[in-house]
Amino acid sequence: ARQFVLSSRPSGAPTRDNFALQRVELPELAEGQVLVRNEVLSVDPYMRPRMDDRPSYVPPYRLDAPLDGGAVGTVVASRSPDRPVGTAVRHMRGWRDLAILDAAATDPLPETSLPLSYHLGILGMPGLTAYAGLQEVASLREGDTLFVSGAAGAVGGLVGQFARLMGATRVVGSAGSDEKARLVEDLLGFDACFNYRSGPVRELLSAVAPGGLDVYFDNVGGEHLAAAIEAMRLNGRIAMCGIIADYDTAPQQRALQADLFQVIGRRITIRGFISTDHASLRPEFLDTVTRWVEEGRIHYRETVTEGLDKTPDAFIEMLRGGNIGKAIVRI
Ligand code: NDP
Repeated sequence: ARQFVLSSRPSGAPTRDNFALQRVELPELAEGQVLVRNEVLSVDPYMRPRMDDRPSYVPPYRLDAPLDGGAVGTVVASRSPDRPVGTAVRHMRGWRDLAILDAAATDPLPETSLPLSYHLGILGMPGLTAYAGLQEVASLREGDTLFVSGAAGAVGGLVGQFARLMGATRVVGSAGSDEKARLVEDLLGFDACFNYRSGPVRELLSAVAPGGLDVYFDNVGGEHLAAAIEAMRLNGRIAMCGIIADYDTAPQQRALQADLFQVIGRRITIRGFISTDHASLRPEFLDTVTRWVEEGRIHYRETVTEGLDKTPDAFIEMLRGGNIGKAIVRI
């Protein structure tokens, strides 16, 4: 089998040199284990902080140990009656072509007409993040005006579309190029999306949301968060999902220049969250979103990289904004 290990820790943006591809002999299966042939791997922003040796909500990757992450594939050998050969599963031993796991560490995937890869995106962690973030963290209400950063990405593109279906009246976003901003407006149906590289975020945001915001879904942090705080209405809610603008910067070096006094006067709620805390919403989320997709009410995109050996490249490209929609690797 082949697997990627973390060969060194990055300083600043990760490079190909931080990763090494290893060949390994797999042991025999123990009782209760399965062998999964991975078909699609997920590359996600949260993997970047895990490359640093710093405490976080997921432990850091260890040097010279195999990387992990979301993956979907098929059971090709089994010593568990619960996961016979042929079962399609999702699990966390990505970054490799073949994975041995305890059957209990695999999620059997429901049969739908949708591609397996959707379970790493819209029907998986990013989808639940968008859905739970809106419903349980931002308490989205009918009539709300919502702003989401990272709008052309996996989570952000879904946030805007789900928000509309949940009753938001005005949905605006930001993304890293003119091309992405146009696509978010034309294909994802946002009322407006700006290219945050084209000027100060504060000004660009107030042009698309002159009446202010009820909800800001933050995927980015930094300048975006500061601008959103100034644009919030009374009792506004900020769901803090990610701060990708700062993932390459050590915590002591991050400078948030925000007018926090507004948080008080406008009674703003700022709440961080992790998708796994909202697992109880999963059945409702799966039912609702599968139906939306099957009814053609969501425009879902993937950026696909071919080949296990290209996994680090897909990851690095995604961090740089090379993806539209969910970044995945097909083996
Ligand atoms: P995306 O598909 O959105 O990919 C990452 C995107 O981030 C890139 O495409 C790029 O788009 C954007 N980006 C990179 N650098 C910057 C920057 N300096 N400023 C602004 N945007 C930047 O990834 P996901 O949808 O998977 O994740 C989005 C965010 O949500 C991340 O912060 C992630 O950590 C977080 N997250 C949190 C979860 C939770 O449970 N709390 C779960 C899942 C994700 P562009 O071209 O627009 O710059």
